[in-house]
Amino acid sequence: MGWVVVAGDGLGVGLVAGVARDGEKWKAVRAREGEKWNAVRAEKGRCLFTTRDFSPGEVILSEHPYVSVTSKNKESPNSKCEWCFSSSNLKKCSACHVVWYCGSTCQKLDWKLHSVECQALAKVDKNRVKSITPSIRLMVKLYLRRKLQQQKIVPTTATDNYNLVESLVSHMPDLEEKQLVLYAQMANLVALILQWPESEINIKEIAENFSKLSCNAHSICDSELRPLGTGLYPAISIINHSCLPNSVLVFEGRLAVVRAVQHIPKGFEVSISYVETAGSSITRQKALKEQYFFSCTCSRCIKMGQFDDIEESAVLEGYRCKDRRCNGFLLRDPGDKGFICQHCGLLRNKEEIENIASEVKSMSEKASMALSSGNNTQASFAYKMVEKLQLELCHPFSINLMQTRETLLKIFMELQDWKEALMYCRLTIPIYLRVYPPFHPLVGLQYYTCGKLEWLLGETEEAVKSLTKALDVLRITHGTKTPFMMELLSKLEEARAEASYKRSSLNED
Ligand SMILES: [Zn+2]
Ligand SMILES: [Zn+2]
Ligand SMILES: [Zn+2]
Ligand SMILES: [Zn+2]
Repeated sequence: MGWVVVAGDGLGVGLVAGVARDGEKWKAVRAREGEKWNAVRAEKGRCLFTTRDFSPGEVILSEHPYVSVTSKNKESPNSKCEWCFSSSNLKKCSACHVVWYCGSTCQKLDWKLHSVECQALAKVDKNRVKSITPSIRLMVKLYLRRKLQQQKIVPTTATDNYNLVESLVSHMPDLEEKQLVLYAQMANLVALILQWPESEINIKEIAENFSKLSCNAHSICDSELRPLGTGLYPAISIINHSCLPNSVLVFEGRLAVVRAVQHIPKGFEVSISYVETAGSSITRQKALKEQYFFSCTCSRCIKMGQFDDIEESAVLEGYRCKDRRCNGFLLRDPGDKGFICQHCGLLRNKEEIENIASEVKSMSEKASMALSSGNNTQASFAYKMVEKLQLELCHPFSINLMQTRETLLKIFMELQDWKEALMYCRLTIPIYLRVYPPFHPLVGLQYYTCGKLEWLLGETEEAVKSLTKALDVLRITHGTKTPFMMELLSKLEEARAEASYKRSSLNED
């Protein structure tokens, strides 16, 4: 596989595919792009780069999935339309009883692929069908679609073809025995569902494709970042990770859209983040290594071990100063007696920290048990206890504390206790602003939630402010034309109208 520019200059992006083992291939890229950053590129092998300037909010690339599946889970318990991922007006496919559609339009659009999948699923034993996971279905669909393209029943284009899937990286040599065995079992199940003649089935290749999916498939989320399913987007998979990315990936239905979140000059690499970026360098590196098998060398990660990075980690995941008025960060004392505040020099005793930490742990376990058993009231008390303990233990900008408050926000939303929910929403925002770049979807969404709660509670002026901030961020990350953004715009209009009405009636009094 050489390098290919899949998307031409007209689209503003170039796609470099193929691994740089061979100097020749890289010469070709160099000739095209100049000498500027080919050293980095040769190391990374595959990447997406801009062939013109992009401004914040501009769409760099959008792609339909090669294949996708919907999924149901705790965060998103509803069934979804197999084609558009909507949850309304669903009807089950009467033949296989596995997939749902929101109407005949979506069913027709999906029919070429689903008709063959449907036949395969209909042959599977009823009890077994229930145990087919989304990953198994995704793989079955991958093979069926490849076959449909080979048979020319589904057309092939430069951006919609199996060669792109084939060129995705897998990490078979990095996998543990246990994982390999699991993939082999899954591959056998796929073969069982497909029931193709032996000459057409290669268990080893299917297992390798599972490894590809685990590092290349994307979670398809709704506008509020709740997971809806999984899709394989071979062009988008070429975009490399950065812990301080210049772009963001969001979904409109199952269409994946990559938008610039900052100015990206021509010839620069496009990056998105594969993992939660709020954590310390060590936490991010661990997550990337475990799922994607690489060590990140982004502008944040190359600072690992430097003083700024050590300070940042101690703030995000470390302890608070013994003096409650001090916001200093703590580092382990060389004599191992505990942790010393780098601002005021006070020592926090090791035993004291260990005691609170173990209380946090046992209370968190109770809290999460209450939450998973659906007892929201009990969970709210338990998480408030966790919060109280973490306030004693952690730095005020700790992400552990932030996560506890996010959970409390969710619980109080469920309980429809808007006042408590608003309090927790407001408490998370300063930490969000610290840990996320200004145009991060989560920042916009948190302002949106805040605005909606203020509106519900009659704090109209505040609602206008929060919704405006939400719009400022989300118009960059989400664009302006989706139904989700239309709703935000109309809420803001309404809030503005009410605020000015309230003001004018006050003046009349
Ligand atoms: Zn639909
Ligand atoms: Zn069906
Ligand atoms: Zn990084
Ligand atoms: Zn201090």
